[in-house]
Amino acid sequence: MRIARLTGDRIAVRGEGGWWDVTDQLQLEGHGDPVRAVIERGTDLERLDVVGAPFVRDADAVLLAPVARPSKIVGAPVNYRDHQIEMQEQKSIADYGVFLKAPSSIIGPGQDICLPYSDQRTDQEGELGVVIGRRARHVSRTDALEHVFGYVPILDITVRSGEDRSTRKSFDTFSPVGPYITTRDEVPDPAGLTLRCWVDGELRQSVGTDELIFDVPTLISYASHVMTLEPGDIIATGTPAGVGSLTDGGSVVLEISGLGRLEVGVTGRDSIAYADRPGPAGERRGDVDATAPGPAPGRAHWAMHMAGLWYFGDLT
Ligand code: MN
Repeated sequence: MRIARLTGDRIAVRGEGGWWDVTDQLQLEGHGDPVRAVIERGTDLERLDVVGAPFVRDADAVLLAPVARPSKIVGAPVNYRDHQIEMQEQKSIADYGVFLKAPSSIIGPGQDICLPYSDQRTDQEGELGVVIGRRARHVSRTDALEHVFGYVPILDITVRSGEDRSTRKSFDTFSPVGPYITTRDEVPDPAGLTLRCWVDGELRQSVGTDELIFDVPTLISYASHVMTLEPGDIIATGTPAGVGSLTDGGSVVLEISGLGRLEVGVTGRDSIAYADRPGPAGERRGDVDATAPGPAPGRAHWAMHMAGLWYFGDLT
């Protein structure tokens, strides 16, 4: 079964040529994230009666991110060998473990990724997303897939700045998800999928999910030994080789076999220079860019910098 969230927070299941709007059968009023509520309640979607439900044809359907506000997005760094090589990484997920992305970074199909910095590279990372169905804590690899609700394409957008990983991957719009969730019964083997990602029409990434270093059961088991995985949580399983920069006005398409095609735009409309990001007392950051306009750091500034101190005032 395929489940989508349509405009107006309507929940819909896939039919021939469109979507059955089953919202009125679910009594979800007041829930901020209706698909997450359906997952939490363990609603048996197969038993819903679509006969008589409103039908929205594809031409009229506007799909939103299927999960709006999971309790967390878990990320998997360096989880494909070819990406490890392209990033000249000595370490892999086996060394790093998992990381977190802010749930507020989620956007849906057709929306725009906003590039935060005009002078720092922002990359696409096409990934298989796993949506948790049943709470998972200290689960074994053997039991892991029983905790999966379904699968969804997800982009783990990333700035290649020197900031912490959780910062670089958590900017608003940095987690495009969709177009819909495919339930796990339709994906007998999550290692049997093909992932392809295009940027501005050019194929950048193409891989089989059997190439994952930590496969889906291992990732769930690992993450569940760190943090309790809640219904609706999303695990971004890692990206293969082929990451590269996004530019203003561009587009990203991520397609996973059987899971659909996620398309988003890219805008630099609100980009700022890296040196202009907020700092103490609103002053420019003293360390970042010697070519940026403004007074050069003086000797005292440099000495304090070397001593591990920061000075943002005017030392003239
Ligand atoms: Mn990633």
